[in-house]
Amino acid sequence: MTASAQKFDFDNSYARDLAGFYAESQGAVAPAPEILLVNANLSNALGFDPDALKSSAEALSGSKAPEGATPLAMAYAGHQFGGFSPQLGDGRALLLGEILDKDGNRFDLHLKGSGRTPFSRGGDGKAVLGPVLREYLMGEAMHALGIPTTRALAAVTTGETVYREGGKKGAVLARVAASHLRVGTFQFFAARQEWEKVRQLANYAIARHDPDLVNAENKYLTFLTRVADRQAALVASWLHVGFVHGVMNTDNVTISGETIDFGPCAFIDTYDAQAVFSSIDRNGRYAFGNQPTIAQWNLARLAEALLPLIDPDDDDNAVRLATNVIEGFIGRYTDIWLQGMRAKIGLASVEVEDADLVNDLFTAMESQELDYTRFFRALAQAALANPTPVTDMFKDKAAIAVWLATWAERLMRDPQDPTERAAAMDKVNPIYIPRNHLVEEALAAAETDDMAPFHALLDVLADPFTKRDGLDKYALPAPASFGPFKTFCGT
Ligand code: AMP
Ligand code: MG
Repeated sequence: MTASAQKFDFDNSYARDLAGFYAESQGAVAPAPEILLVNANLSNALGFDPDALKSSAEALSGSKAPEGATPLAMAYAGHQFGGFSPQLGDGRALLLGEILDKDGNRFDLHLKGSGRTPFSRGGDGKAVLGPVLREYLMGEAMHALGIPTTRALAAVTTGETVYREGGKKGAVLARVAASHLRVGTFQFFAARQEWEKVRQLANYAIARHDPDLVNAENKYLTFLTRVADRQAALVASWLHVGFVHGVMNTDNVTISGETIDFGPCAFIDTYDAQAVFSSIDRNGRYAFGNQPTIAQWNLARLAEALLPLIDPDDDDNAVRLATNVIEGFIGRYTDIWLQGMRAKIGLASVEVEDADLVNDLFTAMESQELDYTRFFRALAQAALANPTPVTDMFKDKAAIAVWLATWAERLMRDPQDPTERAAAMDKVNPIYIPRNHLVEEALAAAETDDMAPFHALLDVLADPFTKRDGLDKYALPAPASFGPFKTFCGT
């Protein structure tokens, strides 16, 4: 027996409180919507019934808005690769509405690929299967790694052919997010000098993400600091696991601090601060090691949009206050990053000189062409007095020997015993990440209706820290035959 469709208990604050910040819109009617994937874990956590979601292809493709939904396309602007577009907005996406989980946390339910909206410009409003599955997989991998992220609730095929350098299968991703407020949402109204709207938006964002600030003094400045802190933590966690977002435009930077819009993203295999995977990032603006300074640049754009709120009477003072926050970002980021790096190299204690130890490690790793993820798992072996797996990864064995000796001295001043330390390291250093060749293989199989590799990979990535038998291939770098990796599927 097929379950009846999911009923959603929407509470749509964005539609209710922010008239003028969006365009009401309906999804395109898909010719033959079919549920391809339902995220059972997430649906349980949100109080949905996975079986009912499996009977909700019409709602989750945007073909027919479910009862209580207020489908809308959000307005936003954005700096894309440094250049400002005053009007972007949801050109192929809809916010269906918001739902509250059992703890009262509010989530957006959002569709991507649901057809044209007033913000579509020349676009078709559609999405295709490969990128939808990539976003699904990457979001789940990030979540399992403990990194804040939007997550897929379902993927639906539409039965339509969508043209992207040839005909592709049309698909829609249903995702949830703490909200879809972006730096670019603020920029949209600031660029039009609609300062009352910027204030209204900031008040909304504060109520939603920083409710303790609602009645605080200097709340807009503190709000900027909070967003900066969340981005610092987010980007630090990306660097800990080797993630390259690929399109850190201001319209892809959330106020909530969640990873959003997985386009041409990828995990590095070989350690390289300059790593770039996106075919559209020709100048390496969003390279692996550039992400912290780009985050700072993006936050400066948010700061600009908030200036008249920070001090309505004194522009110079507003600039001074906001500049302090932005200038403090790299220090804040570095503290968080260093604390995470301490854990990655097995330190439970804190010494100021740890910064040198960690930086020396990265210097030693440069040009060694070693696998970033495998290195840290091997280092847990070195913590158990078996340095061979680490040393074997280095071309310059002398350089790593010097570092290992300094590290061993530092470990003597750390409270953990070796077994405890190695176990703690394995809890923060994943063994399984979405390796590019495996992601490509899974997406290629899905194109031919074979979802088995996708499901297998999704299962492995759901528990990235625990080594399991029979999964060796998921822990290995790409074979040489895979060649240098480029992602082309931004849309
Ligand atoms: P993205 O690269 O997905 O972050 O999107 C950047 C902007 O382009 C957003 O305003 C999107 O809504 C818009 N966009 C991307 N793809 C399409 C499409 N196929 N049709 C309409 N708008 C699109
Ligand atoms: Mg985007």
